[in-house]
Amino acid sequence: MAYSYDDQNIFAKILRGEIPNNTVAETEHSLAFSDIAPQAPHHVLVIPKGAYVSYDHFAQTATDAEILDFTRLIGKICTDLGVSLEGDGDGFRMVSNAGQDGVQDVPHLHVHILAGRPLGPMLERRLS
Ligand code: 5GP
Repeated sequence: MAYSYDDQNIFAKILRGEIPNNTVAETEHSLAFSDIAPQAPHHVLVIPKGAYVSYDHFAQTATDAEILDFTRLIGKICTDLGVSLEGDGDGFRMVSNAGQDGVQDVPHLHVHILAGRPLGPMLERRLS
């Protein structure tokens, strides 16, 4: 079964310039912008410009150029924010929610980069 992409989602509208955004960085294949409701002092969303619904969709069907561009941009943003472990940064968390169980609100692949304070445990400890 194929992945299905809804081109009326908010991030598709941002990519088409129909909704404004606070751009952090832009490359040929990717865009990074501030989350409208930040959950940490740094909360940047990184998205591919292509129509991918989730990380697995992207990982399995994007071109090598798109994957390289997206991955390198994530690295650059960590450096630019000063949170990269390469320098004396204090680190960050990357999250990419997918689908119903992943509690994905916007069905266009995005990676959250969260940083700027201790972020606590990744998940509530619960097995069922
Ligand atoms: P998800 O729950 O899909 O992983 O995350 C969606 C994220 O998109 C949320 O953190 C939410 O605050 C953010 N968001 C939703 N609408 C907008 C918008 O119009 N502009 C920006 N910059 N972020 C948005």
